[in-house]
Amino acid sequence: MGHIKLHIPGPVEVSPKTFEALCRPMIGHRGQGFKDLYARIQPQLQTLLGTRQLVYLSTSSAWGVMEGALRNLTSKKVLNCMCGAFSDKWFDVAKRCGKEADALQVPWGSPIRAEQIDAKLATGQFDSLTLIHNETSTGTMSPLSDVAALKARYPDVMFIVDAVSSMTAVPLGFDALGIDVLLAGTQKAFALPPGLAVFVASPAALAKAATAKDRGYYFDFVEFEKNARDSMTPSTPAIPHIYALSSKLDEFFAEGLEARYARHGRTNGMLRDWAARNGFTLFPEPGFESRTLVCVNNGARPEGRVIDVAKFQKLVKDQGILIDGGYGKIKGTTFRISNMGDETEATIGALIAILDGALAKL
Ligand SMILES: *Cc1c(COP(=O)(O)O)cnc(C)c1O
Repeated sequence: MGHIKLHIPGPVEVSPKTFEALCRPMIGHRGQGFKDLYARIQPQLQTLLGTRQLVYLSTSSAWGVMEGALRNLTSKKVLNCMCGAFSDKWFDVAKRCGKEADALQVPWGSPIRAEQIDAKLATGQFDSLTLIHNETSTGTMSPLSDVAALKARYPDVMFIVDAVSSMTAVPLGFDALGIDVLLAGTQKAFALPPGLAVFVASPAALAKAATAKDRGYYFDFVEFEKNARDSMTPSTPAIPHIYALSSKLDEFFAEGLEARYARHGRTNGMLRDWAARNGFTLFPEPGFESRTLVCVNNGARPEGRVIDVAKFQKLVKDQGILIDGGYGKIKGTTFRISNMGDETEATIGALIAILDGALAKL
């Protein structure tokens, strides 16, 4: 069988151009060549994330930084805002790291609302919180700016935000939001291969990290800051990934960030329309749907059409495209299709023709 194109919500399809960028000759990570590379992409990353802070590169998947953020920033108790598989897992990870943790659990498909967080933080128990901006398992986007606005009332609480499946697809102004950590893995909306994470920390987060006793070494935020000042990383980074990131950032800025965000809006709209046209409803609460994927309801909620997802997935795969059959406890009762990365109206149009063909054969 030939190449199967990925339309799962991560990893996503990687372009031949990006693969070429990965294959540049190796350089030493303490030499000028690497420093020049990092220094060249630093302002691009800062513009992308809307920050004057240094943006760090972590050779790990997103979870490395997600765990690292807890180890650097939670000394009292963390509030884990939970609305799907990834955000729920963060609570488990906090406990495995030996942290005091409390769950703010809402039903899967619901967003996390600022009022809910406010009520919890008002107890004064917490020094940190974790939030997933775009809960990929349910295709739900929580209202990040509303949540971030709470920071003014709780300046000592560290706001740690995972934007793994939204960063680069929607505007995220780190400094304007006023949050403390923003992170993403590059295999989702960046359309890079898995293995690299990008993150930024506020001055308050760095100050707090400096006082944390058990923050470890590999994900020590203080080390990331110290090294980033010299355009380096604490340990040997995945240099090929960083070449590829540089290539990708050039593409983002050639397209224009606003145009990129608008493109994701249009391609996501095409998938939502496809679902509606075929009698499906979406899984997330209306008004909180993701812009980087659709999580289609297939029996998880009473309304809407129900199909044999495994069969549908196979028919689509026979046409060279992989879609996702649902994640965790909503596997099969939902299915997911991604429009992250390089997808355009043309490629989503081609995908929709294949989806329609497969539906007709069910
Ligand atoms: C994919 C994903 C993760 C997990 O990332 P890894 O790269 O597997 O560590 C975390 N959060 C969200 C929102 C994701 O979509």
